[in-house]
Amino acid sequence: MKHIPLSIPHLSGQEMRYVTEALETNWVAPLGPNVEAFEAAMKTYSGSAATLATSSGTAAIHLALATLGVTAGDDVFCQSLTFIASTNPIRYVGARPVLIDSEPETWNMSPAALRRAMIQAATRGRLPKAVIVVHLYGVVAKVEEIAAICEEYDVPLIEDAAESLGSTINGRMTGTFGTFGIYSFNGNKIITTSGGGMLVSNDTRLIERAFYLATQARQPVLHYEHTEVGFNYRMSNVSAGIGRGQLEVIEERVEARRTIFERYVRAFETVDASHYQQEIEGSRANRWLTALTLPGGMQQRDALIQQLKQKNIEARPAWKPMHLQPVYRDVPYITANEEDVSRRLFEEGICLPSASQMSFTDQALVIRFVRQGLVEDVRRNVQL
Ligand SMILES: *Cc1c(COP(=O)(O)O)cnc(C)c1O
Repeated sequence: MKHIPLSIPHLSGQEMRYVTEALETNWVAPLGPNVEAFEAAMKTYSGSAATLATSSGTAAIHLALATLGVTAGDDVFCQSLTFIASTNPIRYVGARPVLIDSEPETWNMSPAALRRAMIQAATRGRLPKAVIVVHLYGVVAKVEEIAAICEEYDVPLIEDAAESLGSTINGRMTGTFGTFGIYSFNGNKIITTSGGGMLVSNDTRLIERAFYLATQARQPVLHYEHTEVGFNYRMSNVSAGIGRGQLEVIEERVEARRTIFERYVRAFETVDASHYQQEIEGSRANRWLTALTLPGGMQQRDALIQQLKQKNIEARPAWKPMHLQPVYRDVPYITANEEDVSRRLFEEGICLPSASQMSFTDQALVIRFVRQGLVEDVRRNVQL
């Protein structure tokens, strides 16, 4: 049986031209014309004043925190329902993550929980040094509300837009609402450089500082002079060549993933109570992965993933929130009220194959087996 993957790279055909150019001109070292052109193209596409291509999205988050001067003993608020790369950089700088619950509409950071956390922190005289919000699976968070709360408390906002390149709210790109935004070009994302990331900001001086830290914090003198510990976090000119070819087709990729999402929604209309991430008013999600919750919870979810696997179809559980991860069991977790929303979304949440090149026939197959799985599950439960 044919393998139907969750998400795989989808080349445009233009990548080879830029990569060949890099090889033919011997520009295979970090930096170079492809990096500069890719950064410029990302500036235009995102609408940010400044961009810095990095070796990964994780590195971009680490650089954002380091540039903001976050250090040992500081707190950083971070959405709990995310991939671990959002939180790990908080530990890299020696700070403590404080995890924030999601709201059930977009599945992203709950503004109510954030406000509650801010009030608690202000009372203790221990405001966070930064807040990290995520646009999960490409669905836009309530980022304007979140940015307003951060502004009120004068705390910088970092947008983890690793999964949401191309997602907008009132035409403005995710990643441009905070002090910093980051994108990822890992192999599974909507576009890829095989591995890489981008740090963006509307503050050119912050990006200059990040550039300095990303290149071993070298002082501007003839010999090698260092007064601080920096990193080696720049993107290679070969990777950036792939990125240039990919960025040319980003809008097509967004359209393809949105179409896949819409087909799933229509197909499961009759399988009641399935619940999708919602687009808040004025927003356009890139729908990197179609995610939904199943009425039967974790048992039904896991059984369905197993059944699909037997048909060679790759589906995955939603990200397991950071407050449920053994590695982060000691850190505070703040919800809006008694309900733990991100736990429920994890337990009931499933991601379905969403690769932009998935054919109509392949998706029809996925739909058929999902429906079959759900119906069988209902029958089993009725028999019990
Ligand atoms: C992929 C991802 C990252 C990290 O990006 P890499 O380029 O893989 O380092 C960060 N945050 C989220 C939410 C991601 O999905």
